[in-house]
Amino acid sequence: MSGTGHSHIFHRDLRASYPVAASGEGCWLIDSNGKRYLDASGGAAVSCLGHLHPRVVAAIREQAGKLEFAHTSFFTTGPAEDLADYLTARAPAGFGRVYFVSGGSEANETALKLARQIHVERGEPQRARAIAREQSYHGNTLGVLALGGNPARKELYGPILGLPVSHIAPCYAYRHQREGEGEEAYGLRAAKALEDEILRVGPETVSVFFAETVVGATAGAVPPAPGYFREIRRICDRYGVLMVLDEVMSGMGRTGTLFACEQEGAVPDMITTAKGLGAGHQPIGATLVREDLARVIEGHDGVFRHGHTYIGHPIACAAALETQKVIEEEGLLERVRTAGETFNAMLSARFGQNPHVGDIRGRGLFRAIELVADRDDKTPFPRAKGLANRIRTHAMAAGLVCYPGNGTADGIDGDHVLLAPPFIIDDDELGIVVDRLDAAIRRSLDEVR
Ligand code: PLP
Repeated sequence: MSGTGHSHIFHRDLRASYPVAASGEGCWLIDSNGKRYLDASGGAAVSCLGHLHPRVVAAIREQAGKLEFAHTSFFTTGPAEDLADYLTARAPAGFGRVYFVSGGSEANETALKLARQIHVERGEPQRARAIAREQSYHGNTLGVLALGGNPARKELYGPILGLPVSHIAPCYAYRHQREGEGEEAYGLRAAKALEDEILRVGPETVSVFFAETVVGATAGAVPPAPGYFREIRRICDRYGVLMVLDEVMSGMGRTGTLFACEQEGAVPDMITTAKGLGAGHQPIGATLVREDLARVIEGHDGVFRHGHTYIGHPIACAAALETQKVIEEEGLLERVRTAGETFNAMLSARFGQNPHVGDIRGRGLFRAIELVADRDDKTPFPRAKGLANRIRTHAMAAGLVCYPGNGTADGIDGDHVLLAPPFIIDDDELGIVVDRLDAAIRRSLDEVR
């Protein structure tokens, strides 16, 4: 490579700090020096089929040879319609519409705006407020940045975040379930926080409740307590609040079912998804909507007042459709479930006795370990120690891509490592993930203790 430009507006020159990813092969990334990295996080839960899946690459080539783009103000396309049919046929009952965008933030912006328009069309224009949870992330564009509950990401932009939003406590058993409290009792208590907030701000002002079905990056593969989302559903119905589940990270098979909410016995009003949808082979996200809600808009004004140039992009839709067919035809949901159990057992065997591993959790091939300074009182390492970053650096040096993050304990301190390997990973490769992660964690702990 030559030239003096940088590929990002960043505080550092990426070429001096990062390896250059040059090619991919199954679960492995290869840099420009030929070093191989086992990709155990797919960025953050993107590459569910590994890299350069031959069927998806062929589908992209085929569509690129037929039609690359047609604007949705004038046309729809075969790939967009086929993908919409495919997804709605497998979504929870009642879901009839899909809006295709280019990523997770856009999918969530779409849901926020659609919820707002539905209330307005129903004659409830005072419903504008969103309720989300602390330690949540729903994207980086302004609307969904306001929606998220991660103080570090928001502080600089406070003055330009206009969405009226409240944040309630997350459902996070490791840190919030009380001594002696059953899991279901905890789930009900956590859900009650939504009702309390709706009543505090006035039910007639609330548009939407947003949550990740299984929390990804902000806290690390945190599954909901049993019954939590069923109670959330009841509360949303009671007060006319629309319920959106953000499955940008946890959806499309990552947890062992196509939609993570299938395991919750609760059907939301909208589901957003992105990363695993196109498996990183193309940028694509989607907002799935219940048919009866889409009809509210069609019955009134008729047009959802929204849109982007690249909605329903045919090459992205063709790649996503092929991705989803591979998952189904090759039995990969079943593989996620069995490999997930194997992986969990390996993680528990290796880290279960580590005095600095407080929790090992997750579903399917969406797993995390939470690190603590003191396992008895769950005290985190202070953020300034930079534990998560150290693990990332040591893992990369050892040829492992994992996804460490912080802010676990209180939104400021606390560290975890998120693991989201491709669905095609084999048991030997899972063993390599555990070995390399163990070494990276040991080295990092030696530096901060
Ligand atoms: N929602 C969740 C749960 C995410 O994890 C992310 C990205 O990490 C987003 C939304 C935003 O998606 P994108 O980065 O594609 O805009």
